[in-house]
Amino acid sequence: MDLRYRSTRDSSVRATASQAILKGLSADGGLFVPDSIPALDVDLDELAKMDYQETAYAVMSRFLTDFTEEELKDCIRRAYDEKFDTPEIAPLSKADGAYYLELYHGATIAFKDMALSILPHLMTASAKKNQVKNEIVILTATSGDTGKAALAGFADVPGTRIVVFYPKNGVSPIQEKQMVTQKGANVKVIGIHGNFDDAQSGVKAIFGDRELEREMAEAGFQFSSANSINIGRLVPQIVYYVYAYGKLYANGEIEKGEKINIVVPTGNFGNILAAYYAKQMGLPVAKLICASNENKVLFDFFQTGSYDRNREFILTSSPSMDILISSNLERLIYRIAGEDDRADAEFMKNLAEKGVYEITPAMKEKLADFYGNFATEEETARTIRELYEKTGYVIDPHTAVASCVYGKYKADTADGTKTVIASTASPYKFTRSVMNAIGESCEGKDDFELADALSRLSGTELPKAVEEIRTAPVLHDAVVEIPEMKAAVKEFLGM
Ligand SMILES: *Cc1c(COP(=O)(O)O)cnc(C)c1O
Repeated sequence: MDLRYRSTRDSSVRATASQAILKGLSADGGLFVPDSIPALDVDLDELAKMDYQETAYAVMSRFLTDFTEEELKDCIRRAYDEKFDTPEIAPLSKADGAYYLELYHGATIAFKDMALSILPHLMTASAKKNQVKNEIVILTATSGDTGKAALAGFADVPGTRIVVFYPKNGVSPIQEKQMVTQKGANVKVIGIHGNFDDAQSGVKAIFGDRELEREMAEAGFQFSSANSINIGRLVPQIVYYVYAYGKLYANGEIEKGEKINIVVPTGNFGNILAAYYAKQMGLPVAKLICASNENKVLFDFFQTGSYDRNREFILTSSPSMDILISSNLERLIYRIAGEDDRADAEFMKNLAEKGVYEITPAMKEKLADFYGNFATEEETARTIRELYEKTGYVIDPHTAVASCVYGKYKADTADGTKTVIASTASPYKFTRSVMNAIGESCEGKDDFELADALSRLSGTELPKAVEEIRTAPVLHDAVVEIPEMKAAVKEFLGM
């Protein structure tokens, strides 16, 4: 059966999976959603035997129905290979009664690698399938991790170029160094004077610029997005939840069909939406626990039904979650609005114009799968320290937000359901915050010395990704004002 996609803001806009991957965002500003969520019609005993690549095929083939088996398996093989430092790709670590699903074993040691290692391959396969002759230009706004993961994924992939915008003062030193040292003839990294939301809004404006689109087409280019709104990002993220379930069952940690909770440290709402889709597919999942940092828009939303971005933007130690507009939430809004495109468009119009919208009580009832809470900076640091002192296991600040919120959830509900916590970044990516939290002195030490110290303290090996950038030269130093973003893109394309 052929699964089609439609825009959340206009149901008459239709696309195949490959077309949706190429477009990224629908022309009306909506996000592509599948007509229905396919069932995971795989027996759990079979699932338990599958490796990561097999699980990826089992899940992704249900969503990307216009890819042939050969095409999809080829994409999977190229993506999930030795770029990951473990053949398990996404291993589980048990600590203090919870299962940490480590999504940071890829090239850039953060979970964005899980989807961005495969997206370029899905995109070039999609281009071929749709007889696209233009060069594909990936335009991305990043709060830190997406940028490097996208750069690593797309660098020197024929037929593509990539431009990444990041908030100049809104990412960690290691994140910035990772990006500005990126090699590849088709890559460009640009800092902006502004925060992540400014970068994302700027990119959205460029995407929506019809005149620019015409100029680009004349010059032989077309835009696509590697941001987490692309279904080519979302679908690969469903895989690891299904995989984690299979492994828990295979290892005798859970009974067949036993429900688990999933905790996700959330920013743009992509990762937790993937967990929600896994549940919709039939994976035995009880609660989806949405963990926010001090930018707790989502916590307030789950509490009140009002999404209100009109508030101070707070820079935290979990910068990849410093977000006030969680773009992927729109897919959930669309679904709980009864797949009503006009209602969805109205909510998003209010968000764009007034910075706020309020869902109906009937919609709020459909959020029962979710639990939301948040962690303050102090709680986040304390969580890192306490887990380390208790178990020796070291987690990064994003994961610590999730771990802390899980603690609050247990205190609130006394729910003893086995729980998977999405561990979204390696502690080596945020060494300074981590070492400070543990109580180690960081004074006078650069981030690499701290990484060495962390390695000794945690008894874990220094990741290759950190070793590589230690001595790499800076190749990108452009910084622009927000209104100059479009001109910077044109300049890079030689237009
Ligand atoms: C992107 C990111 C998140 C947030 O994920 P979303 O899908 O945007 O909700 C959390 N942690 C890390 C380390 C990230 O890079």
